[in-house]
Amino acid sequence: MEKVSKCEHCDVDAYYKLDVEYFYSENMTIYLCVKCIRTESKKLIEDFPTIRSLKIEPIMHSTILAITK
Ligand SMILES: [Zn+2]
Repeated sequence: MEKVSKCEHCDVDAYYKLDVEYFYSENMTIYLCVKCIRTESKKLIEDFPTIRSLKIEPIMHSTILAITK
């Protein structure tokens, strides 16, 4: 079974995977919970001129999958 990642800022399960591609620095992948995705995306909008691409994916938890299957 796939391990659930923890949020980058708090110690709770992450619900979003954020992939950021920058023009001049290294790409970044961070895992965030519902609360932190909001603060983090606000921060990224300020950084926007330096960002080449931004991808936010919801993480499917095995517990959710078990219910929807
Ligand atoms: Zn968090």
